[in-house]
Amino acid sequence: MSPAPTARLMDGAGLARRIVERTAERAAALTRRTGTQPCLATVLVGDDPASVTYVRMKRARCEKAGIRSRHIALPAATTTAELVAAVDALSQDPQVHGILLQHPVGPHIDERAAFEAIAPEKDVDGVTTASFAAMSFGLPGFVSCTPGGIMRLLDHYDVDLAGRHAVVVGRSAILGRPVGMLLLGRDATVTYCHSRTRDVTAVVRQADVVVAAVGRPRFIRGEDVKPGAVVVDAGYNPGNIGDVDFEAARTRASLITPVPGGVGPMTIAVLLDQTVEAAARGIHPPGV
Ligand code: NAP
Repeated sequence: MSPAPTARLMDGAGLARRIVERTAERAAALTRRTGTQPCLATVLVGDDPASVTYVRMKRARCEKAGIRSRHIALPAATTTAELVAAVDALSQDPQVHGILLQHPVGPHIDERAAFEAIAPEKDVDGVTTASFAAMSFGLPGFVSCTPGGIMRLLDHYDVDLAGRHAVVVGRSAILGRPVGMLLLGRDATVTYCHSRTRDVTAVVRQADVVVAAVGRPRFIRGEDVKPGAVVVDAGYNPGNIGDVDFEAARTRASLITPVPGGVGPMTIAVLLDQTVEAAARGIHPPGV
């Protein structure tokens, strides 16, 4: 009996490493040329352990890439007005080139109001409505990092998107919704599935490209992957488990991202890359 075919892996870890290397070279060149080191401000409200770890990791990766980070730690009891004021101050500060407000900020805070206080030219995490609109219309601006990372992975593996049916499972503001817009911008025919979708399985079975962004372990079953489909698993659940049943899906897909080592590392690579890009634009605004 011949072994079951297996999909080619999309190596996000390797691609992210190369992007970060290039970003570090660019940051060093910018610092040498202008005397100004790119700077990312991170804002954390409260002490949720996962958020503390994410921010620490992002700052460590910045440092390794030659990007300065400035950390603003606010108490859990911070009000919306106080958080907006803190973010606004960073938006005004010429020494800060990018701003990352760690989500979630706590249920008593109007998170949208806080995100909107980020100046669009410093929105390197792509969370403001201005960034979302620009991205949706294909205008210049910063994209949400995970969706941006997914698109770079698909491009790296020469995935032809025009006219293909892309099914995005999930519609969150940071992931599902923007990745659907980016796929649409590349002429894919995009379907979103969410918790109110009647028959997710039937939709997924039609997909040439599946993006899983649900937050439920192994939600996409291997048997529902169309033979030859491209499978992108953005999910990250406890125990390093994705939203796709990887072992089963890889016998049907043509290309698939592993978890870990697929989408995850791309997110931070895009964050660093966009921070250095913001610094380059901020130090030398276009036309100056
Ligand atoms: P989220 O905000 O919880 O959104 C989950 C989405 O899945 C929602 O749109 C929800 O629909 C939909 N959904 C939930 N149950 C469903 C069901 N039974 N059928 C169909 N759709 C369903 O999550 P998120 O922040 O987008 O994250 C999703 C996953 O990606 C998580 O595993 C997260 O850890 C991971 N993630 C990874 C990265 C990375 O860097 N790799 C970054 C961000 C997130 P409704 O809108 O109807 O509620």
